[in-house]
Amino acid sequence: MSKFEQTYIMIKPDGVQRNLVGAIIARFEQRGFKLVALKMVHATPEHLEKHYEDLKGKPFFPGLIKYMASGPVVAMVWEGLDAVKTGRSMLGATNPLASAPGTIRGDYALAVGRNIAHGSDSVESAKKEIAHWFPEGIVQYRSLLEDVIFELR
Ligand code: GDP
Ligand code: MG
Repeated sequence: MSKFEQTYIMIKPDGVQRNLVGAIIARFEQRGFKLVALKMVHATPEHLEKHYEDLKGKPFFPGLIKYMASGPVVAMVWEGLDAVKTGRSMLGATNPLASAPGTIRGDYALAVGRNIAHGSDSVESAKKEIAHWFPEGIVQYRSLLEDVIFELR
């Protein structure tokens, strides 16, 4: 059963440098998701190590932290039907070479270590990541488009 979920989507430093912020936001808006949190942040290595704690010990971990701390990221929370899984499918595979055209990574990236954007991999990770990046909380509002995008009644 599909349900309303929130997912944490982050445009990585290469996505920001390549001026892809607007294009990526547009994809989520146009798909029908609702933006409920958004900020630009130049994260510390410590903050990023916590975000990627499950990957500690991988050979690429130090390089990943250096890349993610090299410039600002755009941190976002998107809400909607099946947001976690759909967000991942919009991103494409971890390795852009394996990502289908039409996905964010499949359209904009080539290298696994420079793959433009992040998306939560489960509802549980989304909850953790949203709390980690938005300790101040996120906004609540009713989207006027909900009546058009979903079968609510
Ligand atoms: P994701 O959930 O698709 O982002 O993939 P993972 O959670 O497995 O890895 C987190 C991030 O680490 C990826 O998005 C890549 O930027 C990076 N990464 C993963 N695997 C590799 C790898 O084999 N080499 C390098 N250089 N980076 C990797
Ligand atoms: Mg991941």
